[in-house]
Amino acid sequence: MKSFIIVGGGASGVIMAAQLLRRGGRVVLFELTGQIGAGIAYSTENPNHLLNVRAGNMSAFPDDPDHFFNWLQACGLPPREGGWEKQSFVPRRLYRNYLESLLQSYLDAGDRRLVIHQDEIVDTMLEAGKPIVVTESGKRFSADVVIFATGNEPSVTSSGSQVSEYWTSNGMFDIAPDQTVAIFGTGLSMVDSVLSLLDRGHQVPIHAISRRGLLPARHTVVVPAVIEADELSFGAPLSRLMQTVRVMIRKTTKQGGDWRSIIDGLRPHSQKLWHHLSLADKQRFLRHLRPWWDVHRHRMAPEVADRIDKARQTGQLIIRSGYLQSVSQMDTDMLIRYRNRYGNDVTELRVSTIIDCRGGNLCFSVTRNRALLSLLERGLARPDQTDLGFDVTPELKIVNAMGEAANPLYAIGPLTKGVYWEVTAIPDIRVQAEKLANALCATD
Ligand SMILES: Cc1cc2nc3c(=O)[nH]c(=O)nc-3n(C[C@H](O)[C@H](O)[C@H](O)COP(=O)(O)OP(=O)(O)OC[C@H]3O[C@@H](n4cnc5c(N)ncnc54)[C@H](O)[C@@H]3O)c2cc1C
Repeated sequence: MKSFIIVGGGASGVIMAAQLLRRGGRVVLFELTGQIGAGIAYSTENPNHLLNVRAGNMSAFPDDPDHFFNWLQACGLPPREGGWEKQSFVPRRLYRNYLESLLQSYLDAGDRRLVIHQDEIVDTMLEAGKPIVVTESGKRFSADVVIFATGNEPSVTSSGSQVSEYWTSNGMFDIAPDQTVAIFGTGLSMVDSVLSLLDRGHQVPIHAISRRGLLPARHTVVVPAVIEADELSFGAPLSRLMQTVRVMIRKTTKQGGDWRSIIDGLRPHSQKLWHHLSLADKQRFLRHLRPWWDVHRHRMAPEVADRIDKARQTGQLIIRSGYLQSVSQMDTDMLIRYRNRYGNDVTELRVSTIIDCRGGNLCFSVTRNRALLSLLERGLARPDQTDLGFDVTPELKIVNAMGEAANPLYAIGPLTKGVYWEVTAIPDIRVQAEKLANALCATD
């Protein structure tokens, strides 16, 4: 029976562990917070922070698509009014409970193939080809294979008592209802932050600023378009690909369809499209198109979109577009200066507090995660070309500094997004985990 160490007990680590256990593997999982299944995405306690994927698409197992929905029906928690449907957008904290339950059943059954440690992995090395991990408390563990699932990393931002970073605080802000707030970023984390403030009875304006001022689109019920591979020119320049997508959207909307069906229809192809883009085009996409892609691809649940629309209509939420120039202290407040996107004039905003919702660390090589740093420093891993994560092979094996994938070290989930791009949400992570478990357990 093969033994596995998994570093990180967020969604990717838990789903990976469940897949390996199903196939008879022995798993030791390390999670530094001790909170299984939470990670950045699912640690929120706010019941209004919803999944942005429908319940029917959130199963941990590709071969059992209703697994999450069935759990939801059976979990004994009171459903919201009207009950859950496969189309529902469920509170994210319930998804954490679901992920936890995937491993809890093994622990409850006294299955000794699963051991969970609340500890941080700070170093990894090879001894006679066998991987060894070292914990913060100085203990050493070894296994046949080590899988890294450390996920997203909060960005390095300015800090201070008046600046909160969304990914670290996860929507729990101690902000008085009469304090003016500026939010940096206008994506889904901004949306969550606004919901948290509204839930606490926030009374004064909330200013959300990003370079383009783009808000995530609203989910509607659409059937993904069937897009055949030969309709997309794999390997063509990004500009041509964009042109193809624009034409598809125009054609669909002209016929009364919805642009969302095209964006969703691209999903089965997006990893391959990314793979075939040149490095220059990948960088161009990240610099110019990513905000546009994100707001169309990662959408708001309708009930969330309704609250955001209302907050905008009443003037409580003000979306601004511009380039941040400076943030300085002014008496007890913060003075923000930004250059407006349209025109060269500079706007000044005086606020009591700032929430930074600009997302994760965009430069993987400067990671502060000691487990990952040690791999890079020892030459056991290297960043991918776009510096979004680890360089991995199609089999998810980590490529070392020499460009070889010689060691039993693997990565899954957002850690591999530079190579796969479309691999940060559950419908993609679960496929990676299943494939990797099949490959690793087949060689037993
Ligand atoms: C706010 C937010 C909302 C999202 N909503 C959705 C959604 O609705 N639907 C969807 O499909 N996807 C959603 N996503 C995408 C999300 O990234 C994935 O679903 C998933 O959570 C990624 O899981 P992960 O385990 O790879 O990373 P993470 O969730 O970041 O978990 C990594 C874990 O590893 C632990 N760790 C890190 N380093 C170490 C170490 N050295 N030693 C030990 N432990 C360590 C961390 O403590 C953490 O618990 C959302 C993402 C975010 C950020």
